[in-house]
Amino acid sequence: MERTIISVQNLVKNYGNFEAVKGISFDVHEGEIFGLLGPNGAGKSTTLEIIETLREKTSGKVIVDGLDIDKDPNEIKKIIGVQLQTSGFYPVLNLVELIDLFAGLYNREANAMELLDRVNLRDKAKSKVKELSGGQKQRFSIATTMINDPRIIFLDEPTTGLDPQARRNLWELIRDIRKKGTTVILTTHYLDEAEYLCDRVAIVDSGKIVAMNTPDKLIDELVATGFERPKEVKKANLEDVFIHLTGRTLREE
Ligand code: ADP
Ligand code: MG
Repeated sequence: MERTIISVQNLVKNYGNFEAVKGISFDVHEGEIFGLLGPNGAGKSTTLEIIETLREKTSGKVIVDGLDIDKDPNEIKKIIGVQLQTSGFYPVLNLVELIDLFAGLYNREANAMELLDRVNLRDKAKSKVKELSGGQKQRFSIATTMINDPRIIFLDEPTTGLDPQARRNLWELIRDIRKKGTTVILTTHYLDEAEYLCDRVAIVDSGKIVAMNTPDKLIDELVATGFERPKEVKKANLEDVFIHLTGRTLREE
């Protein structure tokens, strides 16, 4: 029996007269990778930021590991890891110094080299963020989410803008994080990514959840309606060709 670690009930967020999130409800189970999928403007980031206690909701109820976001936002902050944009990181500090700085803010001891090892950036310990490739920046920002040894990490479009090799590398990192028992909630608009990574997904459109299930069950449900792809499905796609020709090795050095 799964334990619910995040419970969102009838969440509403209005920006002025505009309803960005229109009463959505979902639960995230402990230890799963849960995906919020949807086109741009669907309300994914708004929903994540409310759960992260970084944005005020208009109404609804959100419980994170038994803590109510209205009553215990500071307790919630201690048990979650939030991915920040690397553009906001102090430019003069190297990766180890940045991790030490964040650890200080969290009031925690962090083993910077061990964290960098986990995201395969030991070689870059003395580099500045601006010297990293896109994939390395993303891996570093994921490392910063783990500084406080969180129960849940939040990743908002972690692979947007990455090349196919870097995306796959990040997928393995995210799976590895989940394997160690951390719950992951992420957003993406790459459906192959959701299918590969997510135990369950919620499809969000215009502030509403239009479907929620495991990727497999959602596909089965669609097929059960008599749906057929208009075109004969090939055994590979263009991305397979690309990876076959260029390999899986990271290209960032
Ligand atoms: P997503 O992450 O799914 O792309 P967002 O949660 O960022 O969607 O945005 C949902 C909707 O709310 C969009 O129409 C966006 O323009 C609007 N929105 C987001 N943030 C603000 C804000 N601070 N003020 C006004 N409107 C906003
Ligand atoms: Mg967004």
